Amino acid sequence: MARQHICAAEARLLLGQVSGRSAAWLEAHREEALAPPQLAAFNALVERRAAGEPVAYLLGTREFYGRDFAVTPAVLIPRPETELLVELAVAKVGAGDTAQRAARILDLGAGSGCIAITLALELSLTRVTAVDVSPAALAVARDNATRLGVAVEFVESNWFAGLREERFDLIVANPPYVASGDSHLAQGDLRFEPASALTDHADGLAAIRHIVATAPRWLKPGGWLLFEHGYDQARAVRDLLVGAGFADIEQHSDLAGIVRVSGGRMSD
Ligand code: GLN
Repeated sequence: MARQHICAAEARLLLGQVSGRSAAWLEAHREEALAPPQLAAFNALVERRAAGEPVAYLLGTREFYGRDFAVTPAVLIPRPETELLVELAVAKVGAGDTAQRAARILDLGAGSGCIAITLALELSLTRVTAVDVSPAALAVARDNATRLGVAVEFVESNWFAGLREERFDLIVANPPYVASGDSHLAQGDLRFEPASALTDHADGLAAIRHIVATAPRWLKPGGWLLFEHGYDQARAVRDLLVGAGFADIEQHSDLAGIVRVSGGRMSD
């Protein structure tokens, strides 16, 4: 595997990790020598980074929506584009509306728990259920909920299969949507992330098809489904939503103007 370029910003983060010092401390102590064990640990991290390992896994943490989430190779690394999904979900439930505080939210494929936990924190009285098929991912998500001091109900489940019968006001998901064989899977951080969080091992729409077709049975009348998808899936996703009977279909663009979050409402 080609060796990875390491930039100064990454090296500083790794230095902070091995020294346990803040960026400000490091800056104020530029002449300070590293103790030999720290130097050895730093060199080891630099080697791993040079071999391609994601910085988030080396640090064991990644910021999402202004909070730090623990991450391991068992979970997808939270990405800034997923903050769009969270923003839209918060707006749907209505942060300031006490009548909506009893809303029930379901997150499908929770991974690190970044979506479910952020929603639970942003919408303080809302009850959030989060499922993932991977026990290792759920352990990371539970750990994050504990660290961030929020109660989320985590369920080991293959999408809806393990859920008890219930209806939700909002279902969110960041499902695997990269098509098998997509060249991105062989590049950068994705090489080290769980394949099952990235790809459906098919055309990229298999998980989305299942979610869109099944969600109506789990939504309250008037409830919303909102999910992230790939940069080239807007048209296909709209057709799926129409086909499943969703109304008020919305498609939202990221900062680059590319539709990355779509959804719709169950009719009342
Ligand atoms: N956004 C990720 C990427 O392509 C994919 C995440 C996903 O499949 N849910 O880097």
